[in-house]
Amino acid sequence: MPDVAVVGSGPNGLAAAVTMARAGLKVHVYEAAPTPGGGLRTAELIEPGHFHDVCSAVHPMALASPFFRQFQLSGRIRLEVPEVSYGTPLDGGRAALAYRSLERTVAGLGRDGAAFGRLMAPLVQRAEGITDLTLNQLLRIPRDPVAAVLFGARVLEQGSPLWGMRFREDLAPALLTGTAAHAVSQLPALAAAGAGLMLGTLAHTVGWPVPAGGSAAIAQAMVADIEAHGGVVETGARIGSLAELPPARATLLDVAPPGLLRLAGGRLPERYRHALESFRFGNAACKVDFILSGPVPWAVPGLADAGTVHVGGTRAEMAEAENLVAAGRHPDRPYVLVSQPSRFDTGRAPGGRHILWSYCHVPAGSTVDMAAAIIAQLERFAPGFRDLILGHHVTTAAGLGAYNENYVGGDFSAGLMDLRGIIRRPVLGPVPWRTPLRGVYLCSSSTPPGPGVTGMPGFHAAKYALKDIFGLAVPSLGI
Ligand SMILES: Cc1cc2nc3c(=O)[nH]c(=O)nc-3n(C[C@H](O)[C@H](O)[C@H](O)COP(=O)(O)OP(=O)(O)OC[C@H]3O[C@@H](n4cnc5c(N)ncnc54)[C@H](O)[C@@H]3O)c2cc1C
Repeated sequence: MPDVAVVGSGPNGLAAAVTMARAGLKVHVYEAAPTPGGGLRTAELIEPGHFHDVCSAVHPMALASPFFRQFQLSGRIRLEVPEVSYGTPLDGGRAALAYRSLERTVAGLGRDGAAFGRLMAPLVQRAEGITDLTLNQLLRIPRDPVAAVLFGARVLEQGSPLWGMRFREDLAPALLTGTAAHAVSQLPALAAAGAGLMLGTLAHTVGWPVPAGGSAAIAQAMVADIEAHGGVVETGARIGSLAELPPARATLLDVAPPGLLRLAGGRLPERYRHALESFRFGNAACKVDFILSGPVPWAVPGLADAGTVHVGGTRAEMAEAENLVAAGRHPDRPYVLVSQPSRFDTGRAPGGRHILWSYCHVPAGSTVDMAAAIIAQLERFAPGFRDLILGHHVTTAAGLGAYNENYVGGDFSAGLMDLRGIIRRPVLGPVPWRTPLRGVYLCSSSTPPGPGVTGMPGFHAAKYALKDIFGLAVPSLGI
């Protein structure tokens, strides 16, 4: 009999399993899919020899999060960190580039460079405090209150109609909106500004890395550690009810609230059940992967050095696209997130070919194939892009939901990321990972600090399970 059962092997289920196994407990992970990893999978989606990340591709949070730092991820796998974290092309052969060096970034932003520097430099100087504030336990006194004040003031500015007040041109606002729009929300919005400023801070500190071999390398490192500490990761094992699990003393669930409702059957008290039933999901993504005969022919050559490119034009255009999605519509000119991993990790595609990862936001549950709109946006800023396409693979929002039951309607954040959705995730309280069932914990990104490959929801759930059930402290996670 295991001491601990973990349902789901996304980064959070695996983080929980690593922590529990490291504490000397017998851990068994049950994963519905044929391979472990959840959002951390890499596959030959189009042709053999071309390795695409099925979900997550770019991992600033896996370098910065307290869990992955303790796990010493960068000592276990190779992470390629591009010199340009991200960039945003504009019409007229212009682009804003976020270098790892803030000074170099400022130098490329024309008349707004200094204003951008004044916005970001205090955050970059207090990056530890920002990481602690945004990627750790949310409802508590911050470890660095000055960082919290600096961050809060900037979130209020960039998340409100005042967001243009310090800028005179369009490069710096486009750079900032490119990161804020990750949040899948109307713009401007406070939660989106928070996500964007946190990601922007990481761009100028740890950088935005891509794992060599693809994001599955992160999952493999975690599975290897679990197995090295006596744990078992079983794939092809979908759990339909808690009753199907062996009577472990602690059960950690890397599932979304509808998954917890299904697993618990009628066992949850009315009030908690109601909170789960009223949990709100957000909009979704349509993902398009490409095989290209060569690198993307960006009109601005500097974009070739960017790991990630936010393709959507000016701040106003990106906001318009995101606001259309928020209103339930499909934009003709979407905001497109693009990652070009084979520029930095040459093993992803053979013979001078490249792979390209992209998605745009769409309304929840959408079955619309956005490939034509994504290709048109890329062609706009990289003339000749269309001619390089050797193959492509589309996953609609409905397809994402079918691929992973945590992505309800294709919501890959596993819960709406507005202010309420961040604080009440899925319930309001200091320990939202605990459920009313003794020994049962929710550990997915439907708990704080939310989406992204941070491992933190799983780490927090494990920390409380260790304390509540086993009276154990958090073990060392390092190599
Ligand atoms: C297209 C896309 C792009 C993304 N890009 C990035 C990115 O670049 N960087 C980044 O940091 N994040 C990115 N993300 C988000 C990131 O992948 C997720 O936030 C993260 O994977 C959530 O981790 P998790 O462990 O909570 O859940 P998941 O990774 O969703 O894993 C949950 C796992 O549990 C399994 N499961 C669920 N129910 C059961 C059950 N009943 N029985 C057994 N198994 C079950 C599922 O099969 C799944 O494998 C992206 C996501 C998507 C979809």
